[in-house]
Amino acid sequence: MTVGHVDVLALAQRLAAAPERPGGEAAEAVSMPVIRQWCAAMGDRNPCYTDAATAVGSVHDGPVAPPAMVQVWTMPGLDRRAGGTPADEVLSALRASGYTGVVATNCEQDYDRYLRPGELPRTTTRLGAVTGPKLTALGDGYFITWHTTWYSGEQRVARMTFRLLQFRPADPAASPPESASAQGPYPLRPAINADTAFFWAGAKAGELRIQRCGGCGKLRHPPGPMCAHCHSAAHDYVVASGRGEIFTYVVHHHPPVPGKKTPFAVAVIQLPEGVRVTGNVLAVPPDQLRIGMPVEVTYERADDDLVLPQWKPTRDGADVLPELAVPLTTTMVVTTAIATRDFTPVHHDRAAARAQGAPDIFLNILTTMGLVQRFVTDWAGPGAIVRSIAVRLGAPAYAGDTLTLAGWVTDRGADGSVAIGVRGVCGLGDHVTGAVRLDLPGGGGRLAERSAPR
Ligand code: ZN
Repeated sequence: MTVGHVDVLALAQRLAAAPERPGGEAAEAVSMPVIRQWCAAMGDRNPCYTDAATAVGSVHDGPVAPPAMVQVWTMPGLDRRAGGTPADEVLSALRASGYTGVVATNCEQDYDRYLRPGELPRTTTRLGAVTGPKLTALGDGYFITWHTTWYSGEQRVARMTFRLLQFRPADPAASPPESASAQGPYPLRPAINADTAFFWAGAKAGELRIQRCGGCGKLRHPPGPMCAHCHSAAHDYVVASGRGEIFTYVVHHHPPVPGKKTPFAVAVIQLPEGVRVTGNVLAVPPDQLRIGMPVEVTYERADDDLVLPQWKPTRDGADVLPELAVPLTTTMVVTTAIATRDFTPVHHDRAAARAQGAPDIFLNILTTMGLVQRFVTDWAGPGAIVRSIAVRLGAPAYAGDTLTLAGWVTDRGADGSVAIGVRGVCGLGDHVTGAVRLDLPGGGGRLAERSAPR
């Protein structure tokens, strides 16, 4: 029963020290039927992948393969055993020792250029860090990282860092399927008194109310009994526009806070009305916040009696991408797994998923990559060139759930490059957080046009 984690780590250390190893050519050349099937499964209608007439003369000058498909071409497939890469050696050593569960956790891809139909890519792979054993929610396991490079001929076309958790499944009977926790009263209740009641009543009514001095008319926040400028005790309030920008923020990681999932951001929001208000910034992973980010108020119902004014990126202009809700039907989970040539049973076989402690089959990471790419290029348009996609997976996205993708611009280069932050939420919480870098030929100045509904 013991694996010897020393043996695994010694093997990993030996393999990691070795030079990168050729992983062989793709079984078949990049081809239009496989691209079309992938696009159909993902719901990606970007014409540069499938429509030669549109693509010719565009920035791509002919159909190209979706960049997030790069891994698809060299997947082992149904008829070939995985094997041959240094990562495979570690994976099979662990599997033989009872670490039969596997979930991908991270994938970062950088694209030098898009592949075209007819090309026959090949890979080289190098093992990265292997860490463990670690006790995770799924069971104890090892995190395994590897680095793959794709070439077409001698030319490098893409690079990837991939990480997965290989674990010994905990007894499914012992851990009931995760479910949303029962809603009780929100534990962090503000102290509501005569001076602040108007503010909380405003939040319930969907208004951000700022106290105004009845003597000199100055606004103040937080509310108080007396004006610091003219010492008048008279006051009323104004309703703020609900817009602002992040003046500063902190990210709380530890210790745990009742009612909050860490990490979370506490920000000071500068309002155009002249005062600053604190709140949490929702809808954006804390590591993608920046000072100066435009935000707008959103009202979070904490429980039956309490509404909290919180903040999220503004919805206007080109700073926020239109949301995309993807229904994860069983058919969709299966067809995307097949279209990405990922035949791992947990993505198409419910019994296999249950044996690993999951309530149902779940989306594979190649599909999450594909959906993130679709979401971002739907917004940016067919002229955009995807330079990199990096995702981190959180809660699994099970069949029957809906994945809702939200995104916002985190950076714009003068050369037309744009960085997008992405977050995909499903019933169990954050399924994916990620970052995408795009080039927009012709510069970034036409972004507002591009983001108009098409
Ligand atoms: Zn005053």
